[in-house]
This record gives sequence, C-alpha cells and structure tokens, in this order.
Amino acid sequence: MPELPEVEVNRENLERWLSGKKIRRAVVRDRKVAGGKPVRKLVAALAGARVVSVSRRAKHLVLDLGSRGKVLAHLGMTGKFLLRRKTDVDPPGTRVVLELAVGERVVFQDVRRFGHFKLLDRQGEALLETLGVEPLSKEFSPRLLEALLRETRLPVKLFLMDQRRVAGLGNIYAAEALFLAGIHPSRPAQRLSREQARRLHAAIRRTLKESLAEARAPEITYVEEPEAENPFRVYGREGEPCPRCRQPIRRLPQGGRSTFFCASCQRR
Ligand SMILES: [Zn+2]
Repeated sequence: MPELPEVEVNRENLERWLSGKKIRRAVVRDRKVAGGKPVRKLVAALAGARVVSVSRRAKHLVLDLGSRGKVLAHLGMTGKFLLRRKTDVDPPGTRVVLELAVGERVVFQDVRRFGHFKLLDRQGEALLETLGVEPLSKEFSPRLLEALLRETRLPVKLFLMDQRRVAGLGNIYAAEALFLAGIHPSRPAQRLSREQARRLHAAIRRTLKESLAEARAPEITYVEEPEAENPFRVYGREGEPCPRCRQPIRRLPQGGRSTFFCASCQRR
C-alpha cells in the first residue's frame, strides 16, 4: 500500500511527465474516482489545462492547473500513475486518462478503487490543513518529535500512523521505523525517553529515505502485488528470522492492522 516514499515516487514521475505540459483531453472511466462530485467539472477543468506543478502533502498529491484550479489525488491501496505511448493499451483498472498534446497519455490505474482523483475543494483544503509535520522536512527535528510524543498516551505505532501528528507514515513504515529504533510498538508514546525519541527520529528518516531510493521507477510496484519482492526488515515477515537476532518475527494486531516486530530486539 503506498505510503510517503511510494507517493513521492508517483509525484516525481508526474512532475516529469506533466509539468509544463498541456492536457489535451481527460477521460474519467470510473465516476467513483471523482469522490461523488460531477465528473464533467473535473473533465472541463483538465481539458486544455497546462500543469504548473505536482506537489505532495503526506500521502496526497496536488496537481496545480493554474487558473483551472487544482486536482487532489490519493492512491488509496493500489493507485498509481503510468505513462502510456500511442500504441500501448491502457492497463486493467484504468480510472482516468490524461491525453497529452504530444500523443502520450498519463493514466491513473487503481485496481481496488480506494483511490481518488478529484478537484480540490474547500473540504479537500480543510483535510490538507489537518495534516501534521512532514517527516522529511527540516522542521521535523528530534526535539519536535519528542514534543509530539509527549502529547499522547497512544501506543507509539498508532501515534506514528496518525496523520495529524506525523504525516505520511502508514502501517509499513511505522513498523520498520520502530524495529530500526528498537522500540516496542505498544509502548505508550508519552513513555519514550529522550534517547528513544532521538533514535526513532533517525529511524523514520532512514527507512523513508532508503525506500524512496529503492522505489524510484517509471512503473512503481507495491509490496502487496504478486510479482513484488518484500524489501522490508520486519513488515510482512511473521515467523521469519529477525535480521538482527534471528528470533522469529511476530505479528501483533493493533488498531485493526497487523504490526510486525521482534520481541527480543523491541522489548516492552
Ligand atoms: Zn531481533
């Protein structure tokens, strides 16, 4: 499932394919993608628009169409943007097609249909305003993380997944960062020491940067896809040996999701 690094790779690709380019025509193949808003408004805003830039906020993408407004895109569970040339067929699960003036097209593929591609409205702006600090920004310091941790008794894994606190981490990178930092996922956020907060800060940056470097590709693959290899240290590795101590990785249900951790490297 796409989290910050995968969304950032989609952003980089879109920036390269779309920035400064004119969209000749847009086709929406699935009304659900527009989030219940009229598809004709979306199509009208896109047709003939020149893309100024593509930015990212947490797991959201924003396509700036200048005077035509902005598009807010979320990849959901399986969404991805792909570049197709004239003779290529659109992949299964294509929801939106953006035809470019040069005969190329950018398609939004989303097999599970949890993603969206819609005009940025007040509701969308309000959502973006609730998001917490970007973990790869300068603003995200060990001191800031420590202060945020002090604010809640939530288990630290759920703290990390709360988009209003630190934005962009999901189930995968929260588990990976806690493993790297040697912190048990159930530990209340407030109870982390200054040293643990510092280690967690470094671990978050490291796991995001590593994955960003590895995920860069014109056709990104998510770990849940059948042909994908699992590049993670603990995520999805229940029963496999811990890369550090060789004890079996355990799975813990937490907040309706599975957390993967090593009970010996991440003590309570
Ligand atoms: Zn271990």
